[in-house]
Amino acid sequence: MDDALADAPRRPVLILGGSAEARSLAAAAAGRDGWPVISSLAGRVGQPHLPVGDVRIGGFGGVDGLAAYVRDRRISALVDATHPFAAGMGWNAARACAVTGVPLLRLDRPAWTRGDGDRWIEVDDWPQAAAIVASRSRRVLLAIGRQELAPFAGLDRVWFLIRAVEPPDPLPAFRRAGIVSARGPFALEDERALLCSHRIDTIVCKNSGGAAAAAKLAAARELGVTVVMRRRPPRPAVPAVASVGEAVAWLRENTL
Ligand code: NAP
Repeated sequence: MDDALADAPRRPVLILGGSAEARSLAAAAAGRDGWPVISSLAGRVGQPHLPVGDVRIGGFGGVDGLAAYVRDRRISALVDATHPFAAGMGWNAARACAVTGVPLLRLDRPAWTRGDGDRWIEVDDWPQAAAIVASRSRRVLLAIGRQELAPFAGLDRVWFLIRAVEPPDPLPAFRRAGIVSARGPFALEDERALLCSHRIDTIVCKNSGGAAAAAKLAAARELGVTVVMRRRPPRPAVPAVASVGEAVAWLRENTL
């Protein structure tokens, strides 16, 4: 490489964020390897944990908006490190990278898997989960965030404990519900105490994977609590890794 090229600033990497893995990747890439990194957040949370490096907040305006951003900023490579349930953004990224020719990687934390003693009922959507809850549950920990609560609000015979990072606003018209605002990581002893003190018989959650939210599953296993677990949505077939280290290695191979 000649000197001029060696001195030229590298083109930035765009990380689609909103997950702990995205923050770790931004820190690893910007810190150890010195890539210019731009992290993108959707802007759903009022006070997000900000990654190191440059941050932009808000939607791009669909595939065309993302493709235009990638071209304008001369993005070198794109990493989709959004939450496993933020599938829409993954499809947009795949299409935008196909039209711009920019390499794309998916950084996806492994899903949780059912173990001995787990009482899981797996579902593909929230109406299915609500039907199961209506048929068998009395006191439910609803740990699905705050934006998709509506399918559960009509279940008048069930008491819900709604747990979310920020309180739902507006809150759908639940007849019987309590709210707890909390952000992980959650410890096993706290999850056990929460389930016991509220006499929870069912947890409804997403198969987000990762350590920060896994303790509720261990507590449920110990206490014989049913878990209604939503499976992950489909994603486009793109190169994927499960760890930040593998993502950094991929960036070394795929950035200019
Ligand atoms: P989504 O359904 O996949 O995306 C909906 C729209 O939000 C996208 O089309 C895009 O708007 C915008 N968007 C999503 N992620 C973005 C990002 N990182 N940067 C800029 N714009 C983004 O997403 P979602 O499920 O609403 O999740 C939104 C964000 O919250 C994601 O970044 C995700 O990582 C985080 N999150 C989601 C969950 C969850 O359970 N869904 C949980 C924890 C964190 P435009 O089309 O206008 O570009």
